[in-house]
Amino acid sequence: MKTLQVYLEDSYLRELDAKVISTENGVVLDRTIFYAASGGQPSDRGTMVGIARYEVLDVSKGDEILHLTNPVPSAGENVRLMIDWERRYKMMRQHTAIHVVSSIAMKEFGAMITGNQIYEDYSRIDFNFREWNADISKMLQYRVNEELKRGVEVTVVSMKREDILKIEGALKVNPNLIPNSDTLRVVRIGDIDIQPDGGTHVKNTSEVGEINIYKIENKGKNNKRMYFSLQR
Ligand SMILES: [Zn+2]
Repeated sequence: MKTLQVYLEDSYLRELDAKVISTENGVVLDRTIFYAASGGQPSDRGTMVGIARYEVLDVSKGDEILHLTNPVPSAGENVRLMIDWERRYKMMRQHTAIHVVSSIAMKEFGAMITGNQIYEDYSRIDFNFREWNADISKMLQYRVNEELKRGVEVTVVSMKREDILKIEGALKVNPNLIPNSDTLRVVRIGDIDIQPDGGTHVKNTSEVGEINIYKIENKGKNNKRMYFSLQR
């Protein structure tokens, strides 16, 4: 990976100067604040300004972080990166909310998370939970909002792989999905949740506000798909 992912260190950075390294299959930069879609969080959008103004339409991550832009800048060009902050901040609030929902659902209701996806104005979480009902939804929503209201600090630390995997409840996804490196980026939400994660989060749960669980669908025999939106 040639690109420094600055958003992993500072999720609140809205602008940054960078240099275009290459433009073959997409624009590769020396550093970026554009989040590349992964872990259920969609990619950022925004603009790069250099010799001209380039719209950033999509960002993907494979061996390199590729920015899809229109038009395309030239290799060697210096550009000012500007993310669509309103959109990103919604993603950050929802991503932190998903971790709190997942943790409470697991600890208090015994529901295992099998997937999640964030959209601009709502999120969905898939649970392995046979006997879901409206009362459980109500209880879960109440408990999550109670926790969010406490104003719990969200911190990003780096931890040894073996140490994080030892913590009960830290593993909420298939271990094969976790990067195969000795140290992992870990997102801790105070005493609520801790897990390896590559997403962008708010600094304090009070920034999330309240969640509203508005729909539950059946997804196969034991799976439920839950939708929530944020109240403001
Ligand atoms: Zn996450």
